[in-house]
Amino acid sequence: MANIGFIGLGNMGGPMAANLIKAGHRVTGFDPAPAAVERFAAAGGIKAAQAADVAAGAEVVVTMLPSGRQVREVYLGPAGVIAAAAPSTLLIDSSTIDVDCARAVAAAAETAGLAMLDAPVSGGVGGATAATLTFMVGGLEAAFARAEPILQAMGKTIVHAGGAGTGQAAKICNNMILGISMIAVSEAFVLAEKLGLDAGKLFDISSKSSGQCWSLTSYCPVPGPVPTSPANRDYAAGFAAAMMLKDLKLAQDAAASAGAATPLGASAAQLYALYCASGEGGRDFSGIVRFLRGR
Ligand code: NAD
Repeated sequence: MANIGFIGLGNMGGPMAANLIKAGHRVTGFDPAPAAVERFAAAGGIKAAQAADVAAGAEVVVTMLPSGRQVREVYLGPAGVIAAAAPSTLLIDSSTIDVDCARAVAAAAETAGLAMLDAPVSGGVGGATAATLTFMVGGLEAAFARAEPILQAMGKTIVHAGGAGTGQAAKICNNMILGISMIAVSEAFVLAEKLGLDAGKLFDISSKSSGQCWSLTSYCPVPGPVPTSPANRDYAAGFAAAMMLKDLKLAQDAAASAGAATPLGASAAQLYALYCASGEGGRDFSGIVRFLRGR
């Protein structure tokens, strides 16, 4: 069992750290939000006063932070994790951040002689709680081999995507598919309504036809056909529209810097920006169907 440091004990990090504790690891954690720290301590975690204290003495440090800004803040600089960690420490960042930032922080770690992986997740708070997350991991093979047993305590599917930054690349490409496909399915339901076609009938037909996709059959944006989808609970998130917008913007930034054409990704980002600006950013991203219906 390992000495693990965990930084960022929020909606995702809290249950992920709790699962490491359940697996028998000794986990020291830090978060500036007192409520998050108290929940972590109640689950058996050891409180630290700052990020550097978490890094000192840890064999593995895991971070789960809101965005690239906090990731830079926590890892870089004189009081950061990289400066405080012992040379053999393995660093794992599971936040969803931009590819360039992930690569820059991994390069700073490498310069300091530390192995670092970007390991963003899919599966939401439910997956974090049930330890069924999917981890998409970028970094060296040897670091991945060290990380795998640790990640297995928090997830079910652990995939090595390639070198530094490819975990983040996988995450934003996947979520760009999801954002676009949710809009496509929603537009089809709105059009069906206007054409007098019953939503249940469209579901029955398209779920067995070439329009079949996850946004339709697992997360249907209209109430009824998929009882577990957020549409059946007034679009309570789930996966908030503001989070989807964040990921679509990351995909657009990456596409611009890599010179990739993503016209549908750009349109999806614009539509989600309008949907969030209408005050619905905290609702589930599948609620975009209501926004399209009202246009
Ligand atoms: P959250 O806001 O609930 O948690 C983030 C935590 O980081 C907060 O507790 C905050 O206090 C802490 N924090 C902020 N600045 C810090 C600092 N400088 N040092 C230490 N801690 C700091 O967010 P979340 O939902 O847990 O998401 C975390 C990451 O996971 C994000 O990058 C998000 O995109 C990604 N993600 C979220 C979901 C989801 O469904 N919530 C799913 C997949 C991926």
